[in-house]
Amino acid sequence: MTTSRTRPRFLVQKHRASRLHYDFRLEIDGVLKSWAIPKGPSMDPAQRRLAIQVEDHDLSYADFEGVIEEGQYGAGPVLVWDRGWFEPASVTKRAMSAAGMWKAGALEVCLHGERLRGLFALVEMKGKTGQWLLIKQGDAAARPGSEVTREFADSVLTGRTLEELADAAASGELGAYRCGA
Ligand code: MN
Repeated sequence: MTTSRTRPRFLVQKHRASRLHYDFRLEIDGVLKSWAIPKGPSMDPAQRRLAIQVEDHDLSYADFEGVIEEGQYGAGPVLVWDRGWFEPASVTKRAMSAAGMWKAGALEVCLHGERLRGLFALVEMKGKTGQWLLIKQGDAAARPGSEVTREFADSVLTGRTLEELADAAASGELGAYRCGA
């Protein structure tokens, strides 16, 4: 896979804070637009996954894997579950930037990750500000009946699991992450 900084980033971090969730992030307008997906993404077009919009993150957070220390917001282990790049797509054939689609509350993107691939829709629910649905669209990459988060539990960067990260942090092998540090 070729990568270039001119291609907007896409990543998913698996994060066990008070509850396990997957943070889905797209580089739009120079920041990582972010959603927390409690059940995680799916490659099955029959699955509609709730994606709760959360605060934008700095681009520098894209490679973060480690443990957010106790007392900080989101304390717990974080691993990079998938990463790659994306491009805006539109089944309506109207050329629209990712930023424009984001503002309109209806993103259609083609993901080029290692685990998530192909066309996805991310749509804000009517009358429910900040609550979106992530839905795999039917295409050659779709895998009906599959559950990709069960197939792959580990980091796409290092092969570590959340438990291994937490153990490494507890034994001092891993520095704790402090916001702003
Ligand atoms: Mn999170």
